[in-house]
Amino acid sequence: MLSDHALAAFRSALGADRVFDDAATRALYACDETPRRVEPDAVLFPSSHDDVAALARIALEHRIALTLRGAGSGNVGGALPAPGSVVVSFECMRRVLEFDPANRLIVVEAGVVTDEIDRIARGAGLFYPPDPGSSAYCRIGGNLAMNAGGPRAVKYGVTRDYVLGLRAVTGDGREIRTGCRTTKGVTGYDLTRLLVGSGGTLALVTEATLKLLPAPEAVATLRVCFASTRDALDAVSRVMHQSVVPCALEFMDHRSIDAIRPTGTADDLPPDTRALLMVEADGAVEDLPRQIAALKQALGGAGLLEIRSGFERDAIAQLWAARKSLSNAVKQIAPLKINEDVVVPVSQLADFVDFIDHTAQAQNLAVVSFGHAGNGNLHVNLMVHPDDADEMERARLAHEAILLRVLALGGTLSGEHGIGTEKRRFVPLEIEPATLAIMRSIKQQFDPHGLLNPGKLFPD
Ligand SMILES: Cc1cc2nc3c(=O)[nH]c(=O)nc-3n(C[C@H](O)[C@H](O)[C@H](O)COP(=O)(O)OP(=O)(O)OC[C@H]3O[C@@H](n4cnc5c(N)ncnc54)[C@H](O)[C@@H]3O)c2cc1C
Repeated sequence: MLSDHALAAFRSALGADRVFDDAATRALYACDETPRRVEPDAVLFPSSHDDVAALARIALEHRIALTLRGAGSGNVGGALPAPGSVVVSFECMRRVLEFDPANRLIVVEAGVVTDEIDRIARGAGLFYPPDPGSSAYCRIGGNLAMNAGGPRAVKYGVTRDYVLGLRAVTGDGREIRTGCRTTKGVTGYDLTRLLVGSGGTLALVTEATLKLLPAPEAVATLRVCFASTRDALDAVSRVMHQSVVPCALEFMDHRSIDAIRPTGTADDLPPDTRALLMVEADGAVEDLPRQIAALKQALGGAGLLEIRSGFERDAIAQLWAARKSLSNAVKQIAPLKINEDVVVPVSQLADFVDFIDHTAQAQNLAVVSFGHAGNGNLHVNLMVHPDDADEMERARLAHEAILLRVLALGGTLSGEHGIGTEKRRFVPLEIEPATLAIMRSIKQQFDPHGLLNPGKLFPD
């Protein structure tokens, strides 16, 4: 338990109203989106960079482990408290420190909600491209730690591509600045790119300077139905092999379509639909018809059942309804979701999904696959009953077989969710010992006492 001395030091540095060790607060901050719970010893709510620097130094002095937290929407236990740790919640650090449309940048504190950045940018004809599905509530600090990306990643890239510089505090309380304010810069090592995606294991990020882009004038959406998964994924390959890059290229397999049937959002799909693609284009109004024509041509081929187009806001929302209903619908299949976010080369997607189907059949499991097909990034969800030991064992075997297949196909174990606590045992499958040893020595440089997010990212 946290000593009275340490608690008093935190209260004196941050203010008594920013340090909580009561049972209700500890219970509230005991989990993220994973189904596990670990109560922290206390929860701290810093309100500025200086607060974070102060609390890091107190943690160093008392050797207190810190669990960093944005909105707790992560799916891999990144914000799950390490036993005996104190949670640092960034949710009170929500100031926009600078908005500079002329230089297309914005400087924000780590607790700013992702959608808020995009909303401010759009007010000046700009936009912030990274769009994780949780963008209405997740925080930029969490996005930076996990290098979040969403449907727009296929055209615009992920969080890492929009970070110009960071302000942060290391595990031993040093205050650092990385990067610069310009879109070019090669002075020194690129610590910005190192911190982004490091899962909060190297530093507490307090502020970020983010790059913005001119907002596209218009968007058009295609909902494309196919008779089989292979037909749909072959079409994905064709789309990615021509010159018009869609700003979304999302895939749903046949089990996903079965899952949404009870919601009614599949009612207007052709009855024999076994796979669905959502394809979006954006740009200048006069250029959209050309883009849509090129995309339709690439999508045409074996197994195409129907293409519906939407150009207006309501029509677009209507087309996305099936995809948007999926997350909740999947939860009805079984109480526990073993959720993978693997990536394979786009040209290997069809073979990979065939493999998933065969593995699911062989192990008699419900496996639902959907995701950001344009990046080859699939959410493979093994739906299981945790009190059924036999099913859990079959799921374990299927899970490992799927991960090994990903690597054999030249893919990677996580496209956007990161490693956290949930996937760290699989890391040695992908990263060889010499590389992992260098990563551990980098961790040692930033956090010599291992106080930041212990038990995350690295295998035991
Ligand atoms: C419905 C739903 C849809 C989602 N869709 C997507 C998607 O499309 N794409 C995607 O990439 N992810 C998605 N996610 C996962 C999740 O939302 C992202 O990983 C997001 O970036 C987490 O942000 P958060 O603020 O909730 O961070 P948390 O979950 O609180 O923390 C995530 C990690 O960041 C670390 N961290 C938080 N703040 C800081 C900081 N200031 N400094 C250093 N480390 C910090 C934490 O320790 C933890 O390791 C989705 C999740 C849900 C529930």
